[in-house]
Amino acid sequence: MSDATCPAAILPLRFLGDPVLRSKASRVDAFDADLRTLAESMVASMYAHHGIGLAAPQVGRPIRLIVVDTGEQRDGSEAFALVNPEIVEQEGAVTGEEGCLSIPGIVAEVERSSRVRVRGSTPAGEPLEIVATELLARVLQHEIDHLNGILFVDRLGPMRRRMALREWRRRRTRDEPAAPAAGA
Ligand SMILES: [Zn+2]
Repeated sequence: MSDATCPAAILPLRFLGDPVLRSKASRVDAFDADLRTLAESMVASMYAHHGIGLAAPQVGRPIRLIVVDTGEQRDGSEAFALVNPEIVEQEGAVTGEEGCLSIPGIVAEVERSSRVRVRGSTPAGEPLEIVATELLARVLQHEIDHLNGILFVDRLGPMRRRMALREWRRRRTRDEPAAPAAGA
């Protein structure tokens, strides 16, 4: 059976408390079929979990691979994967609401650079450079943080971080279903 007839797998998510989310992800050296399959499965998983971005550690793979789709279509036409992404320029500062698929149900205002230039590769190994503003800039910064073991709650002030983590624990204990917020 060819890969084209297999729908991409929906991968289970890892949640706050899982050590893989705190590890520094390794650089990708092999641009092979496994990497492309993982990227495709991550795009499918991002849609299945109603996310606008997903980093490989969030599906238990500590490698430097992210997928993003901040578009309206949600059919793969606007999704892209970025391997070994690096922020090479950043400027400005803007505060906006953020959530994370690994901390479902928690949203908070986070300050990010308003414009970033990100350099990386496609899963096929082609160089890819993106200049982003607005939501795309925010998602790229959020996902690249994941590759360095950083979660968005780490970027809150101490009091707001405590409140967010308390709310997270409360939801986990009661096993409340998370409202689908724009997580990444
Ligand atoms: Zn996240």
